[in-house]
Amino acid sequence: MTPQRTHSARTRVESAIAVRGLRRSYRGRPAVDGLDLDVYRGEIFALLGPNGAGKTTTTEILEGHRPRDAGEVAVLGRDPAGAGPAWRARIGIVLQESADVAGLTVRESVRHFAHYYPKPRDPDEVIEAVGLTDRRNTRAGALSGGERRRLDVALGILGRPELLFLDEPTTGFDPKARRRFWSLIAGLREAGTTILLTTHYLDEAERLADRVGVIRSGRVVDVDTPERLGGRHLARAVLRWRDAEGAHELASAEPTADVARLAARFGGEIPHLTVTRPSLEDVYLDLIGAD
Ligand code: ATP
Repeated sequence: MTPQRTHSARTRVESAIAVRGLRRSYRGRPAVDGLDLDVYRGEIFALLGPNGAGKTTTTEILEGHRPRDAGEVAVLGRDPAGAGPAWRARIGIVLQESADVAGLTVRESVRHFAHYYPKPRDPDEVIEAVGLTDRRNTRAGALSGGERRRLDVALGILGRPELLFLDEPTTGFDPKARRRFWSLIAGLREAGTTILLTTHYLDEAERLADRVGVIRSGRVVDVDTPERLGGRHLARAVLRWRDAEGAHELASAEPTADVARLAARFGGEIPHLTVTRPSLEDVYLDLIGAD
């Protein structure tokens, strides 16, 4: 677990992304319905929400790829709707559907896209950073799904973006590749990159994000650190154990004291004891109103 990251008043005013009252409808049906959002410089912000909640619409508006109906949007201080190539060179985008480079090798594709940026990173360093050095002469079309995603990230960070959009980056990764990818992303944050991450994986958000925003029906319903989202840090712990009389459950504000009391009652081990608090998934499901 990365150490607790806090944001001072200074970083609060330095938003990489500031959104107020964003609206976008499709054929009269609102997809984004008065959305407010701040992403601070230097943080990893995870956007969570069920299918159809409006995450893609929101991020595409922020990337300057989709028009909006209403609202104020500033990304790196500019309105994406009218921003030009100089602004675009400051952001990196890793989409779910990646650029068509299947016929090129890893090295050829990274070198090719480097020409699009005024001050690109060294292509070989980027390939090394995403762990594809051994595969640099392999055609992109012959990479595994996880390797292909790493190439997408290589292309996304090539231009030294101040702000990186990552859309469901680890879909299809095996557990080892995910952990490796998480280290890569955490390293980008350490180097000062702001990251807006869209994900359906709660463990990914918990592991990577400084703050999490939950979108439901086109609005942000809560924003907080993963530890505090939905009042998670205030929730009682639940003690469960099982003895000859059956299963027991106790919601406790003082779990340590309660465990000590129970241990005294049992004269030692408490049979089948577990102590749990609501997981990020539990509070997320509450926030989106899932059964
Ligand atoms: P997912 O998690 O499935 O990617 P999402 O949160 O990204 O979902 P959006 O793709 O932004 O959600 O979609 C929000 C709503 O807008 C959905 O009801 C979707 O059907 C609708 N929508 C999105 N794009 C279009 C479009 N081009 N034309 C019509 N409706 C659209």
